[in-house]
Amino acid sequence: MIVAMQETATEDQIQVVTEHLIEMGFSVHRTTGERQTILAAVGARSDFDTRNLEVLGGVMEVHRISAPYKLAGRSFRPQGTIIEFKNGVKVGGKEVVVMAGPCSVESREQLFTVAELVAKAGARALRGGAFKPRTSPYSFQGLGLDALKLLREAGDKHNMLVVSEVMEISQIEVMLPYVDILQVGARNMQNFNLLRELGKLKTPILLKRGIAATIEELLLSAEYIMAGGNYNIIACERGIRTFETYTRNTLDISAIPIVHKLSHLPIASDPSHGTGRRDKVAPMARASVAAGADSLLIEVHHNPDKALSDGAQSLYPQQFVELMDSLRMIAPAVGRSIA
Ligand code: PEP
Ligand code: MN
Repeated sequence: MIVAMQETATEDQIQVVTEHLIEMGFSVHRTTGERQTILAAVGARSDFDTRNLEVLGGVMEVHRISAPYKLAGRSFRPQGTIIEFKNGVKVGGKEVVVMAGPCSVESREQLFTVAELVAKAGARALRGGAFKPRTSPYSFQGLGLDALKLLREAGDKHNMLVVSEVMEISQIEVMLPYVDILQVGARNMQNFNLLRELGKLKTPILLKRGIAATIEELLLSAEYIMAGGNYNIIACERGIRTFETYTRNTLDISAIPIVHKLSHLPIASDPSHGTGRRDKVAPMARASVAAGADSLLIEVHHNPDKALSDGAQSLYPQQFVELMDSLRMIAPAVGRSIA
């Protein structure tokens, strides 16, 4: 941590700050320039609240120089994390893994139709909601256990992994027999009790960024899960809320290279929720792959106009096929591949 003192700081004030830092376990290296004193504090603590220093007399600025997360940080595994699944799919390797499916599982007919078409087009995971976090309590809430059974059956039929969202601790046990990846939705990124429980598992977690969360907060949420012993996490950029109203959210493509720099975890991009509009999904999916995304989440529906949730952002089957074709041209340009 770097503490820059004000030009007017007195020797007493500098001493108070120095003692405060020593008390916190830092060793302090002082540089006194012509005008200003700089204190460099080196130490083990990363959970330190810099505001405690900022409010001390004579302090001008405080800068953290080490990340507040350890296990999620790049230096924990400089080579990067690759999550391997039983069907041979690897997330974080050379292949960009496409996870696709309907926003919600609505019926057997719907799910099996969509599963077949996304599998044929190259999706490696079937993604569908069984428990839905809906903004309105009157909207479709999901088919629950019935949906999970259908997802497993359709996933197995087409050799696809199954991904579905867990909204609360009590659903974990119900879901485990049916899913390969548990998704934590944007609304639950900081449900710390849920994250702690997921830390006790080995099942991979797809952790979505909250709509108002910084990248640091996303990585701290990953740290919660990792602190419990589950290192199998895929971070996911799914758009954040900004002042822009044309799109549902603003997909923060820059989060992809930033997470790669700060963390060893693979990062997925979700241009469906990230834009909320079908016509914007393919361009942003292509941009995500070009930016280095390890995985994509794409909502697809065989009849989006009748979808019970997120129809406007769901691709028509042919659009998904065309998107996959274009990704097969873009991926090699950045050293990646698509199934
Ligand atoms: C979803 O994936 O269908 C979903 C609800 O996503 P998010 O949590 O990103 O809104
Ligand atoms: Mn959705």
